[in-house]
This record gives sequence, structure tokens and C-alpha cells, in this order.
Amino acid sequence: MDVTIPGFRVPGRGSSRNVIGEYAVGDRGDGCLQILMAHTDSVPPGLGANDNASGVGVLVELGFRLRRLDPGCDLWLVATGAEERVVIGTGYHVGSAFLVKTVRKRGRRADLRWALSVDMVGRGKRFYLRSPRPRTRPGVEGRMLAAARRAKVTVRWARDSGDGNSDHREFELAGLPAAVIEVWRGYDPCHHQGCDRPGRLQARALRRVVRVASELVGSRPWG
Ligand SMILES: [Zn+2]
Repeated sequence: MDVTIPGFRVPGRGSSRNVIGEYAVGDRGDGCLQILMAHTDSVPPGLGANDNASGVGVLVELGFRLRRLDPGCDLWLVATGAEERVVIGTGYHVGSAFLVKTVRKRGRRADLRWALSVDMVGRGKRFYLRSPRPRTRPGVEGRMLAAARRAKVTVRWARDSGDGNSDHREFELAGLPAAVIEVWRGYDPCHHQGCDRPGRLQARALRRVVRVASELVGSRPWG
């Protein structure tokens, strides 16, 4: 993958960065682009294990499998900075807002099929897919739910309350299709607490989400 690390200003908090790994399929695709993103920051006293080393871990694992998965579209795997609004004090997720700008600046806005935030996926057998939409769209949530079915993982779609709370929010507000995959009901009792520690992560849960993501981006069946 080609890796770039664009930096950006965080209001009142100095600077941060996104790490973008780009996998280009060249002429094999029709110019389409897919984005998987996971935020790297956390909320003290939480240690950021489930929120969100779990999501970053899924992306790293996927990076190793891309050649075998043979994506049919260009794919960006993005570790975003400055997602946690309660820490930053902004009304928006600064890293993903900057990522939207990067997509635009590179002239890829029209190519983007979807962006999926992978956020708190380190526990459980079942997962939620959330987006700020009245109903699912075939090319976005529909595609993601179909990938989950192929991966034999239960994923239920739910509508975001309000305009969303994870990196997908900034894409949707910019008119770009996006969603978040997360723990069942979006609820982890250790969310932003000191107990969000690595020991609570479940390898099986992480493998389930890797399987869903593999089915989603790959042109070859996973297995
Ligand atoms: Zn998070």
C-alpha cells in the first residue's frame, strides 16, 4: 500500500494526523473507491482497547490480506486522529472531517461508494451497523449487511440517533455515504472508563469483524 500521513490542526489542541494506506486496483476497477476507517485516539481514563484499538486492529489485519482478497475497487484503510469529541471539545470529528477534505482534494468524491467506520468491535458475537438514514441503501448498508451474511456474522442495522457519533458522521454530513459497525446496541459498559483494557478484547469477536470486512472489500470469497 502507498501510505501518506496528512496532518491537520485541531482547534485548541495543537495538531493530529490521519494515516492513509491506499490500495489501488488500477484499470481493474471502474474508478470506484471504498474507505474503511478507525480512530486511534481515546478518552481518559479509558485505555482505548475496545474504543478503538479494536477497530484499528481489524484494519491492520485486513492490510495483510488484501492481495489475497483482490479488491474490485480502490481501497483506503485509514487510521484517523482526533475523533473523540468529548476530549477535543469540538462539535465534530476533526480527523474524519479532514479525511472528507482529502477525498475531495484528490478528486475522488464521485468515486466513493461508501466509507465504513470500524469502532468498538472487540467484544461479542453480534454487531450493529448504524447510519443516520431513515432506511438502508442497497449500495451502502445493503452491501455491508450482505457481506455479514456471507461471513455468517449477525449484523443488525439501526438508525443513528441524531446525525451520528463516529467518523462516518462527517461523511454523511458532507453528502457522502457512510456507516459505522460497532458492538451490539453500541453499548460497552467500559466505554470511556478505566476498565476499557486490552484483556477484555475477544479474539473471536475481532475475527468476526475481519471476516465481515474481508467479504465487504474482497472480490474473492473469504475462507
Ligand atoms: Zn470510538
